[in-house]
Amino acid sequence: MSDKHRGSCLCGAISFEIEGDFERFYLCHCSHCRKDTGSAHAANLFSSTATLKWLAGEDHAKVFNLPNTRHRHCFCSTCGSALPALQMNGTLLKVPAGSLDTEVHLRPEAHIFVASKAGWDERLEQVPKIAELPA
Ligand SMILES: [Zn+2]
Ligand SMILES: [Zn+2]
Repeated sequence: MSDKHRGSCLCGAISFEIEGDFERFYLCHCSHCRKDTGSAHAANLFSSTATLKWLAGEDHAKVFNLPNTRHRHCFCSTCGSALPALQMNGTLLKVPAGSLDTEVHLRPEAHIFVASKAGWDERLEQVPKIAELPA
C-alpha cells in the first residue's frame, strides 16, 4: 500500500496531494538551499515513483531554475512558501518536508553538503529549546 500525503502553502492558495512512497529524506546544507529556505538547511523528501497532483492554485506556483545548476525551487507566488518540484527532467520529485500537512514517518537519513554549512550551524543540539515564544 502506498502512502498518500497532502500539503499546502502558508497563504492557503495552493494545495496538493502526493501519492506514493518517498525514498530519500535529506537535510541539505548547500549554499543554494540555505538561500532559498533562508535557514540552516533544506529538509527535502525525494521520490522517483510518487505522483504529484495539484488540488488548488497551481497557477500560483512558480518555478525558479538556478542557471547552470540542478537547483530548482518551486514556491507560491503570493506567500513564498516552498512547494514540491519535479527535478532531473521530471524523473525525481522533491518535496519540502515542511510543506506537508500530513505526518512524515521517514526520518531524515543524512545531513548533506555539510562542507558548505553556515558558520553558526554547529552543535545546534546544545542550544536551549523553548516550547513557544521566549518570554
Ligand atoms: Zn501561498
Ligand atoms: Zn542543497
